[in-house]
Amino acid sequence: MDEVLLRQALEFGKPYTGKGEVASYIPELSKADGRELGICVKTIDGEELHCGYWQRRFTIQSISKAINLAMALEHHGFDAVFLKTNMEPSGASFNAMSRISDSEDIPFNPLVNSGAIAIVELLVPLGLEYMLSAVRGLCGDKYITVDEDVFHSEWSHSARNRSLAYLLQSKGLINGDVDETLRLYTQLCSLSVTAESLANLGQLLANGGVQPETGRRLLKEEVVRTTLTMMLTCGMYDGSGEFAVRVGLPSKSGVGGGILSVVPGEMGIGVYGPSLDRKGNSVAGQKVLEYISRREKLHILDRYAQRTVPTEQN
Ligand code: GLN
Repeated sequence: MDEVLLRQALEFGKPYTGKGEVASYIPELSKADGRELGICVKTIDGEELHCGYWQRRFTIQSISKAINLAMALEHHGFDAVFLKTNMEPSGASFNAMSRISDSEDIPFNPLVNSGAIAIVELLVPLGLEYMLSAVRGLCGDKYITVDEDVFHSEWSHSARNRSLAYLLQSKGLINGDVDETLRLYTQLCSLSVTAESLANLGQLLANGGVQPETGRRLLKEEVVRTTLTMMLTCGMYDGSGEFAVRVGLPSKSGVGGGILSVVPGEMGIGVYGPSLDRKGNSVAGQKVLEYISRREKLHILDRYAQRTVPTEQN
């Protein structure tokens, strides 16, 4: 892969920015410029490529759910985490009330709002400062902070997430203070990152949780495996199936316009494009990733196919 390819991918993606809308249900997010598009790639060998608005700061939004899942797995283990949610794609919108409202008393997965809010309760004892410094470390970006404007904007328009949180409490999936959990969830959605921070995080996940430059292990191998599996099956909400066919990489989107993608064993990719489709995924960002995945044969199943050598007939 080289910068020429990234530029071509961005050119391919650009017309699609006009086919979506920036998020407006969090009013502060509607200030983003939907025409912007940027990408950053970090290989595990330390090569970096970037193009477009790769340095633009935007809020991480739902990409934090992947980090929260990894942190909860690190600190509480698999069984405690999956008492709070199942591991199934929901086929429903990110803020759906289904599954926890009727007979099934548990959210579909940790990457939809209901499951993510349930899991953030496990992180409340760690606190915001600890989480902030952990996220800075995982993303190799010491400038990450809570974007207070976005936080307050979402906090004062959080009726839906608040309903979900109280529903979770009624089902025994939040046992402590609802407000405290919801506040931390919303603060973690409001962390300001760049495509580069996401590429760094992707690089770490691509390398099984070990920082390539320092050799330091930041996440356990099985934590990375579980997190990437959830990203592959559920990371793009009700667009996860089609995205898996078209791109075939564990990925996580956010309504701030970011997408984190991981090419296991090879590289992390961060994309920024705040114009979203109806499912809340960056419309041009998905196209950029599809272009790159096809051109470089990065789809995880393509790579498997390349390894199978035709057998000789006799
Ligand atoms: N903070 C947003 C919310 O909870 C995150 C949603 C998203 O990025 N899809 O609604």
